[in-house]
Amino acid sequence: MNILVVGGAGYIGSHMVKQLALTGCQVTTLDNLVGGFRDAVLHGAFVEGDIADRALLDRLLQAGRFDAVMHFASHIQVGESVQDPAKYYGNNVVNTLNLLEAMRHAGVMRFIFSSTAAIFGEPQTERIAEDHPKQPINPYGRSKLMVEQALEDYDRAYGLRSVCLRYFNAAGADPEGQLGERHEPETHLIPLVLQAASGRRPHISVFGQDYDTPDGTCIRDYVHITDLCEAHWLALQSLLHGEGSQAYNLGNGHGFSVNQVIEAARRVTGRDIEVRYAPRRPGDPARLVADSTQAQRRLDWRPRYAALDTLVEHAWRWECRSHSCQPA
Ligand code: UDP
Repeated sequence: MNILVVGGAGYIGSHMVKQLALTGCQVTTLDNLVGGFRDAVLHGAFVEGDIADRALLDRLLQAGRFDAVMHFASHIQVGESVQDPAKYYGNNVVNTLNLLEAMRHAGVMRFIFSSTAAIFGEPQTERIAEDHPKQPINPYGRSKLMVEQALEDYDRAYGLRSVCLRYFNAAGADPEGQLGERHEPETHLIPLVLQAASGRRPHISVFGQDYDTPDGTCIRDYVHITDLCEAHWLALQSLLHGEGSQAYNLGNGHGFSVNQVIEAARRVTGRDIEVRYAPRRPGDPARLVADSTQAQRRLDWRPRYAALDTLVEHAWRWECRSHSCQPA
């Protein structure tokens, strides 16, 4: 099988490239290296370029004979999307439509799309299933929902088959220690907490302690990167077997508060972690927890690394390996 991974030098994309290659697929990564790293692409061909560049996309897709495209290249920071929505609509929507047009033109009609729990907005149920109302409360969530809606129309009109995978909170690292989370600047909770543990940061700021949750801090469903990649693989198989377009919510179904994540990091690292409470971050819902029954039933998805401590442990190994701190 021959797969184009767009954004394959980023956090989730780089883990996906490794998994696809180890499964025997031919893989090409397209990445503009704005948020990604060339040395995170461990396998396959690499093309540096941007999905805004239609001529490049046409050349690549027409020459490539790809069976499918997996698309990971997007901006992902909720807070930033509130400050600078044009950046989010421009890349996450306009450039993604550009990619879809190039695919259609080249006759590549299978697409796996990185979507997000942020398309749902404030939860109306304890766990969020696929049929939950979609009322995103930030431009990031709206940008992803717009693409999901376009994909429904592209399926009906053009037969372009897609699977939208709505990640809750992607976390953890390659269990073999070769890859991990590496955003610059880093904004995600687990790597920041671990940087505070390793001494790369003086403390962790907790955004808001007055949410309507048991300890007042936000609750999220953290899902291991390897389990997410496995879901992509199963989604790809479903399209190759001729199944129709689908959308799935991917999480473990267990929510952990920011304080609980910090506690887990203290347990795993054996280090002190200084906490400072800060104001709420704009655009953050209080609680986001997945109901992934559909992915389990229809894709036979079984997360292997659901325990929070395992996830934090893999991320800690990566933090130690990439910044030479000593694990406790
Ligand atoms: N968070 C925090 N301090 C930080 C980074 C994040 O308290 O330095 C909180 C954030 O408000 C959210 C949770 O941790 O409630 C997870 O945030 P992250 O940015 O990791 O993922 P998101 O939920 O935005 O996808």
